Amino acid sequence: MTSTASPVAPEALACVCGEPLADDVNDRGVVTVEGLAIAFRRRTDYVMCCMCLVFYRVGDLRIGRVRPLTLMEIKFLNEIESAEERDAVAAL
Ligand SMILES: [Zn+2]
Repeated sequence: MTSTASPVAPEALACVCGEPLADDVNDRGVVTVEGLAIAFRRRTDYVMCCMCLVFYRVGDLRIGRVRPLTLMEIKFLNEIESAEERDAVAAL
């Protein structure tokens, strides 16, 4: 550690509108700007900007890519999620 280290975390993830999306994204989950740790449940997990309501895939954020999802991609993710839920129910 040196005194020249910046106090601002370069890893902070922000929306295209400038609103912070998350404090950190790691292997286990997302740390929100409020400091809440949210564990991943599915590979389809995504976060939404509270200002402009744009969705981002957590998988993209994890690799430092900030790319808003298109409506088609959100629809596709919703279909994967409901299919996984059906499978989970069927396995009971
Ligand atoms: Zn935004």
